[in-house]
Amino acid sequence: MPRNFVRNRIPNVEEFFLSEAIGFDYPIPELGFDLTGHQLSIYTEVWDAKMFRSRHHGNIIVNNTYLSSFAYNIAAVWAYYGHEYDQLKRNEDCQLVRLLTYNLKKFFAEQIMRRSNCVFGAAIFLETLFYEEHLMVPVIKAADDNEKIRMFYDALQNLMSSLLLFHEIGHIVRDKRNDMLELMQQDSDGMEMLGSYWSRYADQQQIEFECDAFAVLTLIRQMKHLSLETSLRGVIFAFAVFAVMSGLDKSAEATAKQTPSSLNSEDLDDIFNDMAGADFSVGIDKFFVARAHSVQLVAKHIAEQNGIELFESCDDLPLYEDIIDVLSQFSLDIVTRDNPPYRGKCEMLARALRGNPRGMRYLKLRSKKFSMPQNRSPSIARD
Ligand SMILES: [Zn+2]
Repeated sequence: MPRNFVRNRIPNVEEFFLSEAIGFDYPIPELGFDLTGHQLSIYTEVWDAKMFRSRHHGNIIVNNTYLSSFAYNIAAVWAYYGHEYDQLKRNEDCQLVRLLTYNLKKFFAEQIMRRSNCVFGAAIFLETLFYEEHLMVPVIKAADDNEKIRMFYDALQNLMSSLLLFHEIGHIVRDKRNDMLELMQQDSDGMEMLGSYWSRYADQQQIEFECDAFAVLTLIRQMKHLSLETSLRGVIFAFAVFAVMSGLDKSAEATAKQTPSSLNSEDLDDIFNDMAGADFSVGIDKFFVARAHSVQLVAKHIAEQNGIELFESCDDLPLYEDIIDVLSQFSLDIVTRDNPPYRGKCEMLARALRGNPRGMRYLKLRSKKFSMPQNRSPSIARD
């Protein structure tokens, strides 16, 4: 293969970063560490923050705004309807169940669609867009009408994005300071108890636990708009949600593999051979669930040191001790919990749209706004 051919095919990532990235220089005096690098915000449907090490530009953190918009919605749902948790656990129909199902199903569909053009992913996406999106309107409108509520949802959204970002920063710090764990233990007495929880896992996985703990400690030091109590509740809630997102992301990957794309419009006529397509995989990411439990231990420890009771009833952000496992279990049924009468119609429409990627792209963009029936024109909400 000619050399210049190879060179042309590989995009020059570093030049791209030079034009888009913003340099940062954060001193972390507690660790005697000066963190430098470049930061870049992007919007893709990949949900987590990523850290790259560039030969020319040092550390590069890519922060994803897709997570921020999802986090805003999910935090709003929880703050608004989290008190219906017992009904959710008993598998009873309630607003919390409907709204979590809507948000998680949409996330699952988007994660499938970024990998495959299969009918199943598009069909459940259309279900959420045409028949379920309206459920979110009162929640979003409550925030649009009330500055205090909106600021609270913004703060929770910020907390969720910051945790993933600080986790990545944890990796950078750990590369330079391999005594990070001891330093964190000095900073917060009694953190040794984490060692016995972590020691059941491989070395590489223990690094993830360590960077999560770093993220939590960094976050509570920096969080200005939430009390320590609400921040700690938010941290546990955030990781319970991340565990679900990671499980659904991996499930989407498996689903996309088993139901490959088809853009061939001739297939549309081959309807009987092609009727299958609702096969999908859904599972739990056990390691991410373990990470969420580790974070819960850290948060509980800090709460105890500060005389805070995390699981007592509260008005702003309800929290329950078994939330991590309950939400993970809940996520397994987001598609099958009910079989709505409109599912068949959405599947038909998904098949029809298969030869029309521009049409599908329009609907995806349209799903980033909520229609507000109270207003004359649709108002752009956060999604
Ligand atoms: Zn990591």
